[in-house]
Amino acid sequence: MRLVIKAPGKVNLCLFLGPRRKEDGRHELVTVIESVSLADELTITESSADSVRCLGVPEPNLISTALQQLRARGWQGPPLEVDVDKRVPIAAGMGGGSADAAAMLRAARVLAPLPEELAQQVAAELGADVPSQLEPGLVLATGAGERVQPLPPLAAHALVIVPQRFHLSTAKVYAEADRLRLPHAASELEVLRLPLLGALRRGELPSDELLVNDLEPAAVSLRSEVGAALEALRAAGAEQALVSGSGPTSFGLYWGEDCADRAAAAAAQLRVRFPGATAALPVGADAGRPRQRA
Ligand code: ATP
Repeated sequence: MRLVIKAPGKVNLCLFLGPRRKEDGRHELVTVIESVSLADELTITESSADSVRCLGVPEPNLISTALQQLRARGWQGPPLEVDVDKRVPIAAGMGGGSADAAAMLRAARVLAPLPEELAQQVAAELGADVPSQLEPGLVLATGAGERVQPLPPLAAHALVIVPQRFHLSTAKVYAEADRLRLPHAASELEVLRLPLLGALRRGELPSDELLVNDLEPAAVSLRSEVGAALEALRAAGAEQALVSGSGPTSFGLYWGEDCADRAAAAAAQLRVRFPGATAALPVGADAGRPRQRA
C-alpha cells in the first residue's frame, strides 16, 4: 500500500510575544496560525526498515523522530519508507518540519490503531509547533504555541508568500527580540488575546492593529532584506504584509472575490526580484487527509 499525504506550511496572521516562561525558558505567545496550500508531500510505502528521504534537510528529520516516538510507545505500524517532496521553505518561519511530523502522525492513524491521546502526546513532545499542525486550518495558539484552539475560516482571501535565499535561526531572532525589548508583559498579552479571539470566533478579520508580528523588528534588524520584501509586497497591492513566525519568509494578504487573481498577478510581478515568490490559498483539514494510491 502507498499513502500520499500533504503537509501544508503555515503563516502566522499575527504573533504577540510575551515573557519567557519560568519552567522552560520559552516565550509565551498569542498567535493565529493559518495553514496554506504551499505544502510538502509525503509518499509513504511499506518497506523492510524505517527510512526518510528529504532533500536539503539534514538528519535527524522530525519525521524519523516522530516514527521513533510512536514505536517507543507501542504503535504497531509496518516499517516505512517516507519520501518527502519538499516545497515549504526550510528554516523559514513556515513550520515545514512541524507540518511534516504532523502529517506523519495523521498517516500513522491510518496504518495502525493510534489512540488520539497518544497522537496528541507525541505531537507535543516533538515540538511546540506540531500540535497546531495536526489538523490543518485556522487556529489560535497560546502557551509557547502548544495550546491550540480551532477557529472558523475567515472571509475569502489569498496570500503571496515571499521566501528568502537565506535562513534565520529561530533562537537568534528570539534573542534579538529580547535585546530590542519587544516582549509584552503577561497582562498585556491577555489584553491583546481577548479582542483577537472575539473577532476570530465571529469569523471576522481582526483590525489591522491586531495583525502584527512582534518578531518582525527582530527579523528586520538581523536581515534588512526582510524589510525590503515587506515593502515590495505592499507596493504589489497586499492589504497587509507580515513576517511569518521568526522569518525570514514574509507574506501579503489579499481579500475579496478577486483575491486569487490579484495574488497570482502580484506573485508573478514579485518573482522578478524574489525568485521563490508564490501565490497560495488558505487550506483546511481536508487538504491534510492521507490518500491511498495503488
Ligand atoms: P518553526 O517555525 O517550526 O520554528 P521553521 O519553519 O523556521 O520552524 P523548519 O523548516 O521547520 O523551520 O526547520 C527548522 C529546522 O528543523 C531545520 O533547521 C531542519 O534541519 C530541521 N528539520 C527536521 N526535520 C525537518 C523537516 N522534515 N523539514 C524541515 N526541517 C526539518
